[in-house]
Amino acid sequence: MASIELSLTEEQRALRAGVLEICKRYPGEYWRDLDTRREYPEKFVSELTEAGYLAALIPQEYGGAGLGIREGGLILETINYSGGNAGACHAQMYIMGTVLRHGSEAQKREYLPKIATGGLRLQAFGVTEPNSGSDTTKLQTTAVRTGDRYVVNGQKIFISRVLQSDLMLLLARTTSVDRVKRKTDGLSVFLIDIRDLKGFEVRPLRMMMNHSTNALFFDNVEIPAESLIGEEGKGFHYILDGMNAERILVASDSLGDARWFIDKAVAYSNQRVVFGHPIGANQGVQFPIARAHVSTDAAQLMRDKAAALFDAGQPCGGEANMAKYLGAEAAWEAGNACIDCHGGYGYAEEYDVERKFRECRLYKTAPVNNNLVLAYVGEHVLGMPRSY
Ligand SMILES: Cc1cc2nc3c(=O)[nH]c(=O)nc-3n(C[C@H](O)[C@H](O)[C@H](O)COP(=O)(O)OP(=O)(O)OC[C@H]3O[C@@H](n4cnc5c(N)ncnc54)[C@H](O)[C@@H]3O)c2cc1C
Repeated sequence: MASIELSLTEEQRALRAGVLEICKRYPGEYWRDLDTRREYPEKFVSELTEAGYLAALIPQEYGGAGLGIREGGLILETINYSGGNAGACHAQMYIMGTVLRHGSEAQKREYLPKIATGGLRLQAFGVTEPNSGSDTTKLQTTAVRTGDRYVVNGQKIFISRVLQSDLMLLLARTTSVDRVKRKTDGLSVFLIDIRDLKGFEVRPLRMMMNHSTNALFFDNVEIPAESLIGEEGKGFHYILDGMNAERILVASDSLGDARWFIDKAVAYSNQRVVFGHPIGANQGVQFPIARAHVSTDAAQLMRDKAAALFDAGQPCGGEANMAKYLGAEAAWEAGNACIDCHGGYGYAEEYDVERKFRECRLYKTAPVNNNLVLAYVGEHVLGMPRSY
């Protein structure tokens, strides 16, 4: 039976301390400077990789630490809690799961040890398209088998960390939708080497936050047939399999953000004196911070429940989705309380509040919108009609 541990084990505390030690070397100035220039935290991600933290979920037989999703989440949460942005590297943890669960033994032996050491970086996941949005089964990028290759044509939008990755996981249609029984069939997943790929164009997009996000164009791009993961046509189901891990990890990003905002808000409102007393004594300042703390603790309990179920191999779709929802909302609530209590200083870049405020907002929208999380809960947890 899965059970939630209410406190961290000694190993988990050591794990968190190790990540914090690295994060201390990358203070607010580091992230702020990269944010202004919209540059990737190369040095931070390399150090984290070299220390083995990004290989936390890779089994030991493939060179990783073989830890659980709770530990993976703890690593991401700690990065965001320390003021950094785990969004630069979180995807490797959940993308790798698709290769692990559905890749052939040869693919796992070829790629996982190199991903574990940082010899290869897999931080890019190409799903979203301009004409399909959240309706993934309508994606229009095609991969057509010709001999020992697939030829890829199409377009993707908002695909992050492509220029910083060696490998990308790509979802494309291999059988047209009018030739499959269910619209979820006929999509396939490929693990492709994107270095020097002919016909592949990457156009960086300047987004609200520093997230290395791009539009991608495939013009008769040839990829080896061996880059197919698992069976042709089953890709959508493979991606769905990884959703719970992704939701739990993203909830963890958000929890770290929420706790950073709350600590910052408490410290500032305890020391800022206006009208002769600390602003934190005013209920108008104190209650939003206290409410954000309540929301964050509740979100953490749900994340811990989802992680405990996941690590015990039990179904956790409802819990993982609810954790992602509650985490993203708690971080947003905490971000608002933090920016409000800082008054004008909340908008000044040197306080980092406005940067974290922009960063945390993403998780209400991506990797899946909170509306679609509610649609999942309505349909799969409550048994209500499907809305899409
Ligand atoms: C910074 C950033 C990085 C990203 N990185 C990646 C990446 O690396 N890889 C990748 O594949 N994608 C990535 N995305 C894309 C992201 O996953 C999508 O933006 C998201 O899934 C929503 O898709 P969309 O933008 O097309 O919105 P749409 O699907 O067009 O939705 C627009 C709005 O309508 C709502 N809506 C739509 N249908 C329904 C419905 N049935 N019920 C209720 N509401 C509905 C949505 O909730 C949303 O509010 C990234 C996005 C951003 C902003």
